Amino acid sequence: MLKLPEPISGGLLLSYRCTAECRHCMYACSPKWKGDWISEENLRKILSQLAGKIAPSPWGSEMVSLNYGLHFTGGEPFLNFGLLLRAVEIADELKIPSTFVETNCYWCTKDETTREKLHLLKEKGLRGILISVNPFYLEYVPFERTERAIRISMEVFGKNVMVYQLEYYNLFKKLGVKGKILLEDYLNLMKSEDLARNVELFLMGRAAYKLKDFYPKYPAHYFFNQPCQPPFIRNWHNHFDNYGNFLPGYCGGISLGDCRNLDELLKEGID
Ligand code: SF4
Repeated sequence: MLKLPEPISGGLLLSYRCTAECRHCMYACSPKWKGDWISEENLRKILSQLAGKIAPSPWGSEMVSLNYGLHFTGGEPFLNFGLLLRAVEIADELKIPSTFVETNCYWCTKDETTREKLHLLKEKGLRGILISVNPFYLEYVPFERTERAIRISMEVFGKNVMVYQLEYYNLFKKLGVKGKILLEDYLNLMKSEDLARNVELFLMGRAAYKLKDFYPKYPAHYFFNQPCQPPFIRNWHNHFDNYGNFLPGYCGGISLGDCRNLDELLKEGID
């Protein structure tokens, strides 16, 4: 039996459905997925077992950090805003610290609605936001929406705004990017850019298929007996999905067990 460590941080996937189909997506999310949104019953079951285990950011429970606290993600969680609000509300009732939402910003089409949604989330107890920026998102989300999301999020959440990756936000601003850009056009524009080196991503899910030409290839046996990087079993930044899967670390497609029975799973371990 392998004992699993108690999770101190992680992300709750409300659904795998997304407005985008990014080439680097570690869970191969897409508009083609059925919603299968997490039910309120399962939301409560999972959150109530994470409560008391999730650790706050080193700067306090009101602050956010990527590998502390709990985030709401997908897929794109703003596709079901009512459910996202409910999830935030339950997490707040359960005193889960350092909560934030992760988004591709597709929904930030107008200042008023963007501000309204962010204020509602804050009122329900959400502490912050993580905004996704890199050339793969730029194929699907007009950059003006990302800019709007960052500007208004800073008004609403102050310091609790994480732009991932900030280097790309600064680069796109410097280039004066407008609208969406196909990856091939972006690469033509940025002749010297080494995407494999600059974009932080995990070679799994859709990335392993769509980005294979950006990386060297090795036969499977090359990886035998090598430890996973970062470790496969760990207490930080695990994911819990809408089907009840406890997904280890960043490993898409592998389930350690049913996170709706998290306490039992942690007590008994896995074969
Ligand atoms: S926006 Fe995020 S969840 Fe959606 S396809 Fe892109 S990487 Fe995946």
